[in-house]
Amino acid sequence: MNPTASLRHWRRAAVLLAAACQLLHLPGRAAEQSPRAKYSTSPADQAQCRRQLNLIYGAIQQYRQKHGMLPRWLSDLVPDPLADPRVLVCPFVQNFGYLKEWRKDFVTVPVFGDPGDCSYSYELCLEPFRWVPGWTTRDYKEHQMQLLGLGVPIVRCFAHRPILNLGFDGSIYPSPSEWEDNFVTDPKHRSALHSVHWLATNTPNQTALLITAPRPPEAGAGQIDLSPHYNATLFHLSQVDSSGQVIRACPEGLQPIGNVRFDIRGLVHLAGKNFPIPFPRSVQNIGIHSRCATLYLLHGTCLTAPEGEVIAKYVLHHENGTTEIPIAYGEAVRTRWFDPKRKAESRQPTPAWVSPPERVATISKALRLYVHRWANPNPGASVHTLDFESLMTESAPFLVAITVE
Ligand SMILES: [Zn+2]
Repeated sequence: MNPTASLRHWRRAAVLLAAACQLLHLPGRAAEQSPRAKYSTSPADQAQCRRQLNLIYGAIQQYRQKHGMLPRWLSDLVPDPLADPRVLVCPFVQNFGYLKEWRKDFVTVPVFGDPGDCSYSYELCLEPFRWVPGWTTRDYKEHQMQLLGLGVPIVRCFAHRPILNLGFDGSIYPSPSEWEDNFVTDPKHRSALHSVHWLATNTPNQTALLITAPRPPEAGAGQIDLSPHYNATLFHLSQVDSSGQVIRACPEGLQPIGNVRFDIRGLVHLAGKNFPIPFPRSVQNIGIHSRCATLYLLHGTCLTAPEGEVIAKYVLHHENGTTEIPIAYGEAVRTRWFDPKRKAESRQPTPAWVSPPERVATISKALRLYVHRWANPNPGASVHTLDFESLMTESAPFLVAITVE
């Protein structure tokens, strides 16, 4: 069986087994009553579980801050920072009565291998990933996050139909057993998003390109083609709302921002200190090969840094030498997601683009992107290449598009 089919097989097997177990006479407390369903379709049960997933999310953040790493298992969160161990058992499973009985359907599934009392799957566990030699389950999740962003689930509750997911970014949303389906926007991407083999054997650029729109035919020489350097998709500039819908917050295609047209299709993302996705520290030799008077960089960053701290720099190689352009937090950029209702967020710098209210409606967060304008001191002199480098602060920068005039 190929890895993709195998992965789908065990997921479906777990779901089918759970369904089949409803028909069995269960021992213990369940045996004293009528056989009970091992999952709930009740919105009230979902609401209770969402509250608990929220607590787990907060505890994971605290653990990360204290230890500088993610927990190996969710039970590592108990008793500090999670004083109440019951938070790791879905309220529906608590009412079911026997955690061991409920969990036995999943004993062969690595993400359910928590040695403590836990009913949730932990997708960032360090168990060997059986479909790719040398990988852990966490390695696979990191690859998915590199492609699709921080909405990828890290904790899941299989005690509900639909299943409940907690994204790395704290989003909580329902999905079918294969959560990847929420991210499918084009039927041809369906098999790719489910393919372990595809993620394991292609470079981040190859995987990003497969689900990136082709370059618009109207794009001109002034819109620099970043396709050879994309290592992430525009899903990074999307959020999953509480119904599971992926809200794409960014303009896409050939789009004017201010008076400048940009080719917006993917991202060149860099790493930051403790950033959960292993992006590169720098991307070199981005080809510009153009005589220009002005160069516009459309960019942004993920997570905050102290005011004034330089988080990234561009190094321009042109016919008169090199020029460094430092990008300081609070002066050139601020973290990409913000609450547009908060007055403090109207501080400088002014974004070049903010997502419109209709794209903010169900996620309460707006996206902001910035433009840096570089005036060539020798207008008409040729700019050859550009390097994009992270200073490895807490904030992870990304480049969306470059236009020259
Ligand atoms: Zn639950």
